[in-house]
Amino acid sequence: MPIISPLCQLNGGCMGCCGHDFISKEKIKEAIVLNTKEYSQITSLDTFRDRAYPSDLRSGVCRNLIEEKGCFFCPLHPARNSGKDLREGHCNVNYLCKTAKEFADWNEETKNKFMEFIRSKGLDNISYSIIMDNGELLKEFKG
Ligand code: SF4
Repeated sequence: MPIISPLCQLNGGCMGCCGHDFISKEKIKEAIVLNTKEYSQITSLDTFRDRAYPSDLRSGVCRNLIEEKGCFFCPLHPARNSGKDLREGHCNVNYLCKTAKEFADWNEETKNKFMEFIRSKGLDNISYSIIMDNGELLKEFKG
């Protein structure tokens, strides 16, 4: 089973580890819009996934990352496919960012405080993703 953190689902979905070397927020948004458009035209999830090599990112963003009703998600994720993980071989399914790793070791009270801290920031989901993955949010929270 892949490792999951509740932080990955917060704030409209985190995409911080769905790519690397991001160019800008605008380019990330643009890539997700194009991915979502391509997803709407596919006949199967395999065709969608295999339309590009795993390393062939779009402006640094994984080509499988899409948006629905303002939330980011991966249609290949086991949560969307009755437990079947279609991401195998396409990304590191066991990756957790430093923030999510530290979060997993906290007690419930600290976890709730961190989630409240995130909510109080009112971040859009791209800003949230970037500072979640690069550890800025964690650093600020820990003061
Ligand atoms: S960057 Fe961290 S919180 Fe965001 S999806 Fe990846 S593991 Fe989850």
